[in-house]
Amino acid sequence: MEEHYPFTNEPLPYAYDALEPYIDERTMELHHSRHLQTYVDNLNEIVSRYPGLQRMSLKELILNVPFYPWDIQQPLLDNAGGVYNHKFFFAHMSPNGNRRPSEELQRKIEKEYGSYEAFEQILKEYALSVFGSGYAWLVMDGRENLEMIITHNQDVPFQRNRKPLMGIDVWEHAYYLKHYNDRSSYVDDWLQVVNWLD
Ligand code: MN
Repeated sequence: MEEHYPFTNEPLPYAYDALEPYIDERTMELHHSRHLQTYVDNLNEIVSRYPGLQRMSLKELILNVPFYPWDIQQPLLDNAGGVYNHKFFFAHMSPNGNRRPSEELQRKIEKEYGSYEAFEQILKEYALSVFGSGYAWLVMDGRENLEMIITHNQDVPFQRNRKPLMGIDVWEHAYYLKHYNDRSSYVDDWLQVVNWLD
């Protein structure tokens, strides 16, 4: 995430309908062309008013939030986090992606959770435990230990010094058109289209 202001919303590397039947075309289109676009636009609008922020990367912007004028701290975090989380999320899905992590990470997952399938079930439990809007993540802490966490709204794992390895968006806009209120079946479907990039 080395990009700088002005931030852009590049086309996805796959078509909106490419994740069918698991994630539907309309959801992908709205999620990318409207939800993410709005975060990008809002972020650019805020940063346009503060030249001192314009050379900072997305990650630097987020990590430095406590030093900004108080009235832009939350909007900046929400929108920069929205951009970061969505770019991460869309990159970690694919119609023909890596359905399993690298051998090294797979070994770590098996050691920590027993098996890849057991890991999927635990990640699903975390995803179902998010009250309201947020994400469930597999992350690595500073000592390279695996950990599962949830974040609310558009908070990002590296605010807690955690490196994200995989993450699922469980805001209702990520699934409501197809899965309605059934987050569980959405998580099952999403697990079919994951793209490991570790
Ligand atoms: Mn989203």
